[in-house]
Amino acid sequence: MNNHLDEFRDPLLASEMAGKLKAFRCRPCNIMEVCGTHTVSISRYGIRGMLPEGIRLVSGPGCPVCVTPVGYIDAAVQLAQIPDVILTTFGDLMRVPGTSTALLKEKALGRDIRVVLSPLDSVKIAAENPCKKVVFLSVGFETTVPVSALSVMNAESSGIHNYYLLSANKTMPAVLETLASDSEANVDGYLYPGHVSAITGTGFYEKLADKLGTPGVVAGFEPLDILYAVMKLLEFISEGKAEVFNQYSRIVRKEGNAAALEVMNSVFEPCRSYWRGIGEIEGSGLKLREKYRHFDAWQQYGISCGSLSEPAGCMCGPILKGTKKPSDCALFDKVCTPENPVGACMVSSEGTCAAYHKYGGI
Ligand code: SF4
Repeated sequence: MNNHLDEFRDPLLASEMAGKLKAFRCRPCNIMEVCGTHTVSISRYGIRGMLPEGIRLVSGPGCPVCVTPVGYIDAAVQLAQIPDVILTTFGDLMRVPGTSTALLKEKALGRDIRVVLSPLDSVKIAAENPCKKVVFLSVGFETTVPVSALSVMNAESSGIHNYYLLSANKTMPAVLETLASDSEANVDGYLYPGHVSAITGTGFYEKLADKLGTPGVVAGFEPLDILYAVMKLLEFISEGKAEVFNQYSRIVRKEGNAAALEVMNSVFEPCRSYWRGIGEIEGSGLKLREKYRHFDAWQQYGISCGSLSEPAGCMCGPILKGTKKPSDCALFDKVCTPENPVGACMVSSEGTCAAYHKYGGI
């Protein structure tokens, strides 16, 4: 069956473009694919093998589950162990190891932990269980945060007061600026995340290019999208142009999604946030605004995000910063596998280690 994505997967066009890319001459450089979905597509379609000599595609901090610290899982486990709490979460978080246990293990021990497809389902669970307290594990970027914000607005307008968020939500601009100016990360250009950009628009990328001289291309997720975006980025780098190009214009508008941004900004405000492997970054997280603070599980239960240390031997930190690859980790595919993950990057479907495990490093 034909669908609108077929034109972006055309094998003849892809092979023609891959040939042009391979022949392109450019100084050695690092291109960071910020988004976990890009990491998966790049691995799935073998795009690393189509690059010219000296050009490296490195993964970045674009998987929200992966950048969430161990201490957040510990806090979630602490809440799940309270008898009248129902914990709700997206599926990926269930298997992320905390310091001594994971949510999946806690569920097996009888804790009431439920996987939901949307935070709006959590509000429904709260309405159906007025004698319980329902805590949604709100971990995401600009793509999913507006729906979390909407869930809080819905709970407020419906008079549901037994619903809470444990927010570890993050936003992209501050971390991109941090990495662009980090000499260890050494990013020469960004493949910007298509999904996040659909919400945020492209204005921040232009500011970043002006301020730090780092070019970028907003890219879609099909093979032709990525091949074209990499080619465009290499052109910018080789010509010394700090420009931004929107390759994903079929979805991303310069101004973003005003309605989603308004909902997000009316419920959340920026705060300091810790990113696994990168550290604390001012203004990179989101906490509930004063008006909605009574929905804040951190405040309601007086808990905090404890441990920031990585599991022994795990290299998720440098992998999320683009300075190491999964194959640099001694545990990769030996001790650490999707069935027995040691770190978050092997758990999430968007994690770099999980993508390398499934598709290989090419
Ligand atoms: Fe961490 Fe496992 Fe990846 Fe190694 S392979 S960095 S232990 S998630």
